[in-house]
Amino acid sequence: MYDPIQLSKKIENLVLKKNLKKYYRFRSTCFYNGIATADTVGCNLRCVFCWSDKSVWNVKNIGKFYTPNSVAEKLQKIANDYKYRQLRISGGEPTIGKNHLLELLELIEKKYLFILETNGILLGYSKSYVEDLSKFNNLHVRVCLKGSDLKEFRLFTNANRGFNFQLNAIKYLNEEKISFNIAIVSNRNNKKDLYKMLSKLCEENIFIEEEDIKLYPKVKERLEKLRMLELFM
Ligand code: SF4
Repeated sequence: MYDPIQLSKKIENLVLKKNLKKYYRFRSTCFYNGIATADTVGCNLRCVFCWSDKSVWNVKNIGKFYTPNSVAEKLQKIANDYKYRQLRISGGEPTIGKNHLLELLELIEKKYLFILETNGILLGYSKSYVEDLSKFNNLHVRVCLKGSDLKEFRLFTNANRGFNFQLNAIKYLNEEKISFNIAIVSNRNNKKDLYKMLSKLCEENIFIEEEDIKLYPKVKERLEKLRMLELFM
């Protein structure tokens, strides 16, 4: 087991050099009906079903360092070329490297919506991070809960804590009136209690999607090794 906050610091040291952050790919994707995507390197969780491979487990050997300015330029060029209105970061956890992310958001033209897909750990750990994000009107945050409670979170991530940080992130985003939605990965059939809790946390103002795990060959192989494949079939 590991502590996701300590892991964040360790990963930050590997994927950030001052305000430059590692990315390994820039591309157009069909998600959200078309979105310009920068794939970053490094995460503070180790989800058993993660589709990212080297960008999470082998950060030293993948990617190159980019300034916020060059990331913003690349994303906006893709969006412009494909006539997209949306941008995002995938491949790893975009909230690692707060200054890099904030500077990047400053550089995004207001005509674009930036979708921040996050596991919420660092947002729930530090409310001031969420306060800093609240000044961007063209931002939507998608928090993906890894499990429906601490027990399932631990099973999926092998982290010793973090589920409460994910819930805190939702609370803070709601308090700061930032546009957001929740995605959940869970095998539980009955999620009534979780939905009730989330609805209380968000004062009924809530959009929840259940995320399906895609069994890419690497994911399948990892789950087979861990004898957890049947959980996701
Ligand atoms: S939080 Fe996302 S990127 Fe990080 S390990 Fe989990 S699924 Fe992969």
